[in-house]
Amino acid sequence: MAKKPYVDKEVCISCTLCVDMVPEVFRMDEDDLAEVYAPDGASEDKIQEAMDACPVSCIHWEE
Ligand code: SF4
Repeated sequence: MAKKPYVDKEVCISCTLCVDMVPEVFRMDEDDLAEVYAPDGASEDKIQEAMDACPVSCIHWEE
């Protein structure tokens, strides 16, 4: 089964970097926090790049 990413919204600082990098997976919600709307929208490699780039490291893989 494919790994699924999620955003820890308690930590997100609304920088929009993940949305800019992988708009197929991430979007900003009504509170201007990032969320995953399509966990299978991009390859794990692309999602991992956004995870690594997030300035507060608040994007994680579900266990
Ligand atoms: S890169 Fe991280 S801090 Fe920036 S919007 Fe995405 S989840 Fe939030």
